[in-house]
Amino acid sequence: MTNEIVENQELIAQSVHDLGERLIRPNIRQWDEDQHFPVELFQQLGEQGLMGMLVPVEYGGTGLGYREYVAAIVELSRIDGSVGLSMAAHNSLCTNHILMFGNEDQKQTYLPRLATGEWLGAWGLTEPNTGSDAGNMRTTAVRDGDGWVLNGAKNFITHGRSGNVAVVIARTGEPNAPHNATAFIVERGTPGFTGGRKEDKLGMRASETAEMLFQDCRISDAQRLGKVGEGFIQSLKILDGGRISIAALSLGIAHGAYDAALAYAKEREQFGKPIASFQGISFKLADMATDIEAAKLLTYQAADLKDAGKPVTKESAMAKLFASETAVRVANESVQIFGGYGYTKDYPAEKFYRDAKLCTIGEGTSEIQKLVISRQILK
Ligand SMILES: Cc1cc2nc3c(=O)[nH]c(=O)nc-3n(C[C@H](O)[C@H](O)[C@H](O)COP(=O)(O)OP(=O)(O)OC[C@H]3O[C@@H](n4cnc5c(N)ncnc54)[C@H](O)[C@@H]3O)c2cc1C
Repeated sequence: MTNEIVENQELIAQSVHDLGERLIRPNIRQWDEDQHFPVELFQQLGEQGLMGMLVPVEYGGTGLGYREYVAAIVELSRIDGSVGLSMAAHNSLCTNHILMFGNEDQKQTYLPRLATGEWLGAWGLTEPNTGSDAGNMRTTAVRDGDGWVLNGAKNFITHGRSGNVAVVIARTGEPNAPHNATAFIVERGTPGFTGGRKEDKLGMRASETAEMLFQDCRISDAQRLGKVGEGFIQSLKILDGGRISIAALSLGIAHGAYDAALAYAKEREQFGKPIASFQGISFKLADMATDIEAAKLLTYQAADLKDAGKPVTKESAMAKLFASETAVRVANESVQIFGGYGYTKDYPAEKFYRDAKLCTIGEGTSEIQKLVISRQILK
């Protein structure tokens, strides 16, 4: 890693931190309480180059690498995990799928709008009956003349209602047959494509999670991403990168929860002393700091491998598994350090605690990460 990359990473972290303090911090509580999805914020993040970080400059992006991308997600998520999640889903899933598997026309049409934040992207793999078992999807795309007709439902989709464009993976072959899914680009406003129910969530409440519904939705063959039958294989490759972004999201949440607990432990006095002076509390802080450091090393290791064009299936799953479980542990201890105040909305600990849990579920649960890692080490 060169000095220039480290300097870039530090500059990005500082500017994203400043941006977050200005545009996000004052609104955190209101957005969380109202479950308000701040669409306009993502246009502002786009103006600052954060919505197309991995997209080459010729397609309107910032043309940076995973190291810088991780640094940006960490800083946003340190302030508000919801914003980190939406930014990560837009960049890693929808935008990256078009970047990695789109043809030149598709890249020219969609990437400049997505990378500048003019358009928000969604990515639909999960369905009501198939989450971990996503390869068994029921949404179908049937060949009809020179196009395709989509029918079915996707759920738990980040920006399922507000996304201007979605990458949708649908079954184009027989159930359970190999190579039976294909990816398509579907624009909002296409007849037969609607946003469905918005979820009322435990955490990440300012990130929109909603259904996408397809009823006789006709799209042209020009909207197909890559070859027929390669949609699920493409998705696994997209998730290899996406998991690095969820590790970064986890790292940011863990950092935020730790920073708050550390400051509070130095201020709060009991028995005539700051609670940080009790070994029971200082050892918690030591464990939290050590876990965060280990999660950081795993996350940046995966980012560096990805930037070097090397395989990252095992490393991104390890980073996601360890960082997300760390976020949950650290946020839990943060609430404990705040005591009764940690259980109230007057302090930030309870929100970190609620937000952290998503990280062990989205883009593959912790159990599925262990499946991915064990398959890699046993193959
Ligand atoms: C806020 C949020 C945002 C999301 N955004 C998106 C998005 O943008 N696009 C998208 O496509 N999806 C998205 N998802 C969906 C997410 O990826 C799925 O929820 C996740 O993959 C788990 O699927 P499931 O919820 O159906 O759980 P299930 O698959 O039903 O799992 C239930 C439990 O069983 C366990 N389990 C399942 N199979 C196994 C196994 N083989 N071995 C051991 N344990 C197993 C799981 O680990 C889990 O504990 C999002 C979800 C949330 C909550």
